[in-house]
Parts: sequence; structure tokens; C-alpha cells
Amino acid sequence: MFRHFNPVELHFGENAVKKFDFSVYGKKALIVTGKGGSSAKSGVLDDVTERLEEQEIGYEIFGGVEENPSFETVDNGSDIFVNNGCDFVIGIGGGSPMDAAKAISASAKTGRKTSELFGIGDEISCHPVIEVATTSGTGSEVTQYSVLTAPDGDKLGLRTERIFPKAAIVDPGYTLTVPKNVTVSTGLDALSQLVEGIYSKKSTPLCDALAADALRKVKESLPIIAEDPENLRHRTQMAFASNISGIVISQTGTTIVHALGYPITSSRGIRHGLANMLTLCQVSKDVEKIEPGRVKLALEPFGGIEGLCDFIDSLYPRPKLNLTAEEIDKFSETLNGSGQVAITPGEYPTERIKEIYMAL
Ligand code: NAP
Repeated sequence: MFRHFNPVELHFGENAVKKFDFSVYGKKALIVTGKGGSSAKSGVLDDVTERLEEQEIGYEIFGGVEENPSFETVDNGSDIFVNNGCDFVIGIGGGSPMDAAKAISASAKTGRKTSELFGIGDEISCHPVIEVATTSGTGSEVTQYSVLTAPDGDKLGLRTERIFPKAAIVDPGYTLTVPKNVTVSTGLDALSQLVEGIYSKKSTPLCDALAADALRKVKESLPIIAEDPENLRHRTQMAFASNISGIVISQTGTTIVHALGYPITSSRGIRHGLANMLTLCQVSKDVEKIEPGRVKLALEPFGGIEGLCDFIDSLYPRPKLNLTAEEIDKFSETLNGSGQVAITPGEYPTERIKEIYMAL
């Protein structure tokens, strides 16, 4: 028996924003974007504001979201939402603005600071959130997760079915402007999510089928768009694979690979998708000992674990981190009691976690 619950209405394809009916969600939107200006460059911001004006819906723009958004940024966005009488949120961007949008809506609705949203689970309520994805990697537009950076630098995941977006818009045309380094890091994030979805103890037959198909698309399309960024056919395949990766992890969660990667991103500034690649091969070897069939299914397009490692290195030659003993202790501590470790097949005592970090 398995349950599949993903209540996000998906609009996928060319000109999806121009046809989208925002009017059913409210009268005044807070548009949340990244601070780098990519939403203007890709054309998505103009498309959204034009559509809102056409539908006579008011809006405010909060363009202050950094990569790996902080609690403070979410609190600022929430204040702007409340002070301007907004009643729904439109998140535009990669995972960072989309995650911030979910948390802003929860903070504004509940009147709680971001730090007070953790641990209250289903007490959370939200204003409606519409997400417009502009990277192909996180699938955040269809997940119930919001990954935020606490004041001490730790990355924490807010996770409750209450924060599923109402709708997701994916127009692969907006990803044409994504630079090569972000194309690769986000594409590898999607790969990681799809593989981890198959490895997870919470995997389901439906998610297995979706993920296995999407991994074939990643294998084919990611190397092509890394070299030919304007290839819309392969950008479309990656956008699709990324969206599927979000649908998959919304059911299966992510595994120890993500948990191991968070402190690497926080401390060493290595982008999320790349940080995952540093440990995916080691974890695959561990999982293979317990669940060889899961590894075979996930890595069939790559020809197995060695093929996966070669694929990763061809896009992102993995650097040697040479973590200090102090870093290894500190990073390992963050995995204590982690739900992501619990859903990974096999045993991960602290000594094994330290071994994985030591090998980096
Ligand atoms: P991101 O942090 O949202 O953006 C990375 C960079 O790409 C930013 O400089 C951004 O510019 C730029 N960019 C975005 N779209 C672009 C476009 N169309 N053209 C040109 N540049 C563009 O990257 P991300 O990898 O998508 O998101 C990572 C975050 O998502 C992490 O915090 C991670 O933990 C989280 N995440 C969440 C989930 C989930 O389910 N909620 C899943 C996986 C990862 P701007 O500054 O202009 O935006």
C-alpha cells in the first residue's frame, strides 16, 4: 500500500504565465524574487506583472531573496506582505525565492517570526502561494518544503503539507538565461533528488517509475544544455525532469545525501546541488550493499555507480575538500536525529558519517 498526495495544480509549457488565472487566489500579490535580477533578465517578471495588470490585480515586489535564504529575509518579506495588505504570494525564481515565498506566506498568515514556524507542524497555515520556476533543479514549485538558513548558519527544512503551493508554473523558456554553472548545479540537484527518491525507504512504485524515466532525461539533456544553453528542447526535458524530482521527493523525502550536503553548503559555500554530488557515490555504494535492486533501477541510465561518478565528474570535477577534524565533528553533529538519515537504507552511526566526510 502507498499514498501519493501532491495537491499542486501544474501549468507546464510555453506562455503558461500569460494564460494563468491569478484572480482566483486574491486581489493583491506579493511577488517574491531573487536579488540578482534574473527574473527581469529572463522576462518572467514582466510576464507576471503584465498578466496581473490585465487581470486588475494589485502587487508589491520584494526582490530581496539571496541564495539559501535567511530567516531575516523571510521576516522582511512577511512584514512587506502585511504592511501592504497583500493576500497571496507569487514566488519567482529558483529554489531560494520559491522557498522564501512559502515561508513568507506562513509567517504573514500566522503572525509568527520565521524561527517560530519550526516544530509547530500542522498548526501552520498559509496564504495562497503560486510558484513560477526559473531554474531546473529543485522542483520546489511542487513540494511542501522550505529550506532556510538559520542565524547560526544551519540549513533547516520547514516541512508540512500545509505549505504546498496552490499552483506551479513551469515555462522552460525562462531557463534559457541560466548560466552554465547554475545549469549544472541545479541539474545535478534534480539528479540527486531523483536517485535519492528511489533509494529512500519511503519510495513508492509510482515515484520509482517517474524517477527512473526522469533520470534518463537528465542523462541525455543535462550535458547538452551545459554546452548549448539555448537548446529549448533539452531545456524542456530538464525542466520536466526537475519538476518530476519535486513530485518524487514530496512523497519520498530526501536521504542522507542531502543531510550531508547542507553543512558543506553553509560552511564552504558550495552550491546545494554540487554539495550533494560530493557524497552521492559513497552513499550509493552503501545502499548497494543493502538494496542492490534500488541502485540498479536508479543508475541504469548511467551504467551503474562508476558510470554515475564519471557522469558527475564530466560536468563537475569534484574538488578535494580536505575537511578539518573540527569541521567533521561539527558537520556530523548536524545529522544527529536526522529524519533524512532515518529513511536511508542501512545504518549510519556517527563513525560512518565521519568516514564519509573524511573521504572528501
Ligand atoms: P537559487 O539559489 O534559487 O538561484 C541560484 C542563482 O541562479 C541565483 O543567482 C539566481 O538569480 C540565478 N537564477 C535563477 N533563475 C535564473 C534564470 N532564469 N536566469 C539566470 N539566472 C537565474 O538556485 P536553486 O538551485 O534553484 O535553489 C537552491 C535552493 O533551493 C537552496 O536553498 C536549496 O536548499 C533549496 N531547495 C529546496 C527544495 C524544496 O523542495 N523546497 C529542494 C531542493 C533545493 P536571482 O538572485 O536573480 O534569483
